[in-house]
Amino acid sequence: MKTYDYIVIGGGSAGIASANRAGMHGAKVLLINAGPIGGTCVNVGCVPKKILWQAGSLAEGVEHMSGYGFDVALNSFNFKKFVTRRSTFIDRLHTAYFNGLNNNNVDYLEGYATFLDNHRITVNGEEFSAPHVLIGTGGRPSRLNIEGGEYALTSDDFFELQELPQSVLLIGAGYIAAEFSGTLQALGVQTHWAYRFERPLRKLDTMLTDYLMTVYKEQGVILHPHSIIKKIKKISEKNYKIIFENKKEILVEAVILATGRIPNTEKLGLENTDVEVTEKGHIKVDKYQNTTAEGVYAVGDVIGKIDLTPVAIAAGRRLSERLFNGKTDSYLSYETIPTVLFTHPVIGTVGLTETEAIEKYGKEEVKVYQSKFTPMYFAITEIRQKCLMKLVCVGKEEKIVGLHGIGLGIDEMLQGFAVAINMGATKADFDNTVAIHPTGAEEFVTMR
Ligand code: FAD
Ligand code: NDP
Repeated sequence: MKTYDYIVIGGGSAGIASANRAGMHGAKVLLINAGPIGGTCVNVGCVPKKILWQAGSLAEGVEHMSGYGFDVALNSFNFKKFVTRRSTFIDRLHTAYFNGLNNNNVDYLEGYATFLDNHRITVNGEEFSAPHVLIGTGGRPSRLNIEGGEYALTSDDFFELQELPQSVLLIGAGYIAAEFSGTLQALGVQTHWAYRFERPLRKLDTMLTDYLMTVYKEQGVILHPHSIIKKIKKISEKNYKIIFENKKEILVEAVILATGRIPNTEKLGLENTDVEVTEKGHIKVDKYQNTTAEGVYAVGDVIGKIDLTPVAIAAGRRLSERLFNGKTDSYLSYETIPTVLFTHPVIGTVGLTETEAIEKYGKEEVKVYQSKFTPMYFAITEIRQKCLMKLVCVGKEEKIVGLHGIGLGIDEMLQGFAVAINMGATKADFDNTVAIHPTGAEEFVTMR
């Protein structure tokens, strides 16, 4: 049996970040990974998604150019070429990740890890042990148990397509459905989006979703609220009939499920350990990422808290700082995490929504500032898109507890504002900051 200081199970955002940081501090580390290096984010998440979003944004840009006087037309989109170039980029990232692990002296083992007990692990018939073990096994897309459910694609399947479908139906009401709907429509795919309630993205401030739905309708996305899928019938290759509980029927080339994700915990051998999971299979942890088994930790999507790459990275690194660099109180606060949805237009949000702030502090304590304007990019385009922003402030000092925006450039604006909000900025601090003109961001410091 080989022994290490730290065994990390899962080579995604969480595992790689934690393993590298531990290696940097001199720990003897083994990283075990079953899938391609980089996990979800690099292979079937943030990276291929963002590149696809960028393609959609470029296609939109061509439409905008005629307003500026350019005589251009979008003749065709060579999806195969796009996919090949994207794969080449992802291969480069794989190499960079392996180089990083090498530089930090992290041993890498490809294989599926299973616990024999809290500190012994088996992979490919070999046994390993360590006093510290991290579970960073992430998750996978959920599937629906309906008639014909096997015909539906998940986001993982979509990233394997070599041909872009002409029409799609997105099922679900979260980040993935919202992002795929906008991007595919922008790329010329007739897109349907079905969700169970009146509105999707129900955790977001309603200002954001209301405007997103308005723009999506203008762009031609066909929205199906109050629609629960009942069955999928294959009519022929690339022709599926979808029947909803409300009897509505539609025909599309592809159905994409985006109904949430399931943690990868069932086949880990957790029954041989003292690690407890929740009803949904997520690993239970305290604020220091300790599981219920001493010396076993969990980070990332597998804990089901906030499924975002930078959250997994930050928590993984802080854990290693605590375990291998003497920073005994190092942990990640899961409060006030900024997040961007790569929709068309983009959405950025940090902190409490207006409704959450009122629930938490009472209506009389909450003051909201809003702005709605046309970014100068759209000043002379044929399509006019707005940018909407909101600051949610609390108390006499008007501490900013929520900042939300939808529109051009919000994705790149949010990070800096999130720093200010994490530092406890008030409305007066924003007002005291001189604007940068002409930008969209200046609206955040000039609201009345
Ligand atoms: P993962 O990245 O899933 O890594 C888990 C790893 O563990 C995998 O490599 C897997 O093969 C391996 N594994 C599983 N079981 C075992 C085992 N028993 N033994 C060995 N190895 C095992 N987040 C953002 O911040 N921004 C975005 O724009 C964004 N876009 C996204 C788009 C999509 C379509 C999706 C699906 C997700 C997106 N996310 C985004 C979320 C982000 O990808 C995840 O939060 C992040 O990848 C989670 O990292 P992780 O390390 O916890 O898990
Ligand atoms: P989400 O958890 O974001 O949303 C899934 C939603 O689908 C649910 O909230 C629910 O909404 C709806 N749903 C659940 N079950 C069903 C069902 N049986 N039928 C129809 N609808 C259903 O999941 P996603 O898969 O979209 O994304 C997973 C996570 O990955 C995200 O939460 C996010 O953390 C991360 N991610 C981040 C991105 C980014 O940072 N830009 C991009 C993509 C993903 P309702 O109850 O309203 O029906």
